[in-house]
Amino acid sequence: MSDQQERLKTYRAKRDFSVTAEPAGATSPVGQSRFVVQRHRARRLHYDLRLEVAGVLVSWAVPKGPTLDPKARQLAVHVEDHPLEYFDFEGIIPKGEYGGGDVIVWDWGTWQPAETDDPARAIERGELHFDLHGEKLAGRFVLVRRDDARPGKEQWLLIHKNDDHARPGWDPEDHPLSVKTGRTNDEVAAAPESLWRSDKPAAEAAVALAPERAPVWDPPTAEELAELDALGSDGRWVVQGRELKLTNLDKVLFPGRDPEPPVTKRDLIRYHALIAPFMLPYLADRPVNSHRYPDGVDRPGFWHKEVPSHAPEWLSRWRNEEADPGETQWYAVIDSVPALVWLANFAAVELHPWTSKLPDVHQPTWALIDIDPGSASSFDDVLVLARLYRVALEHLRVDAMPKVTGQRGLQIWVPVRGGYTFADTRAWVEKVSRAIGRTVPELVSWEWQKDRRHGLARLDYTQNAINKTLVAPFSARPAASAPVSVPIGWDELQDPELRPDRWTIRTVLDRVSSVGDPLAPLIGRAQELPAL
Ligand code: MN
Repeated sequence: MSDQQERLKTYRAKRDFSVTAEPAGATSPVGQSRFVVQRHRARRLHYDLRLEVAGVLVSWAVPKGPTLDPKARQLAVHVEDHPLEYFDFEGIIPKGEYGGGDVIVWDWGTWQPAETDDPARAIERGELHFDLHGEKLAGRFVLVRRDDARPGKEQWLLIHKNDDHARPGWDPEDHPLSVKTGRTNDEVAAAPESLWRSDKPAAEAAVALAPERAPVWDPPTAEELAELDALGSDGRWVVQGRELKLTNLDKVLFPGRDPEPPVTKRDLIRYHALIAPFMLPYLADRPVNSHRYPDGVDRPGFWHKEVPSHAPEWLSRWRNEEADPGETQWYAVIDSVPALVWLANFAAVELHPWTSKLPDVHQPTWALIDIDPGSASSFDDVLVLARLYRVALEHLRVDAMPKVTGQRGLQIWVPVRGGYTFADTRAWVEKVSRAIGRTVPELVSWEWQKDRRHGLARLDYTQNAINKTLVAPFSARPAASAPVSVPIGWDELQDPELRPDRWTIRTVLDRVSSVGDPLAPLIGRAQELPAL
């Protein structure tokens, strides 16, 4: 290993750039300032050469990129200083923002000024000699301001001296991989892990987009289920290491659709335990609102948000610091089989997780399209609307999946990257929905008040708001035989057997064991919403 590699290795070991942002104003050891070159595909491809000087990244945009070729004299446009936090940024800058496009860390390392110990002054004077110790770039470079340079976007030239590191004909485009992740710009654009929000303070501007690897949940064992079945009307059930006190297990919560038997609380508990591996990915890390029917779904239910005082200690919860007095302070966060079972024992029939995830509850992870039928809408009308959305989303190249509600309607769930606000997703869903509504005005009403809609369907974009929610995939609904909200594939819209309440807690487990969950691959997808 060369000295230089050794130094870089130690250097990297000290700083895990991908985890810890260098605090603003921090300085590196004397003579060990950092440099980075980012390959940036904005309106035009260019390379940004940035040298750490006095707590900022002094920057030049080099359209053809830096080279080791000593014959090349590359144009380098002096651009504004960047914050140190930008040093290892690799990801996307939203379209429409300054520099919108994708960025990789094309080279990085340390640099030293040559022939001066005051690089800031040398830059001011228009000529800087310096040595780079990077993974691709090395040796003596000169940056020199052109005489005809106008203030603002000064044109400079970047030249490599003819030293030991010089390589005639060397082309940066032949070395396209990121030194940070080994990826190309194309790969980063396809699956960005980070987003730069230049409208935010530097310390908050890099927004992580990559979903953490989704946890996997196991269903209860056959022995555990047998113990549940063997309990009397009350009893203690140990599932996955948690002991739950279950009550009124044989109470009927749902009547049966003819000729099916009614559904008891034990049935709902059993269902929650078995569907957990499919439902928990939509609930974990999110506050949940639940719709409870302690006297069965034939009696009025009520919304429950606040974690009750008798909740088990192990239940995950989240405190809403922004709650006003009288509003819900503590929300349950359902992230385990026992937690789902606890909710069922609580007769929490419908589970509505937030669209946003902790810790930033102001950032939605789903944009939700809600086709809400009116009293005069048929399910065929709903399907017409769903197919129109399908065409629109395919045209926009947006990935999304439909889901039947278990009642009369249909929703479409659209995964979005981090960094959007609810106002963003709401406005986007509204625009798409207005376009759909214009195509079939005879099916859709935009009236707010239900009694003014003349029984027409509503394309409800307003659910894209903090603490407004739609029913979770695989949650039961309060109707006979406990129908379930189920994600479906787009082609299933053509299935003549399809009904919004086709599956119940008794039949959906067979479905998922044979076809799985078509929405699951979209969980956590960092998807950009195209401008409309
Ligand atoms: Mn740039």
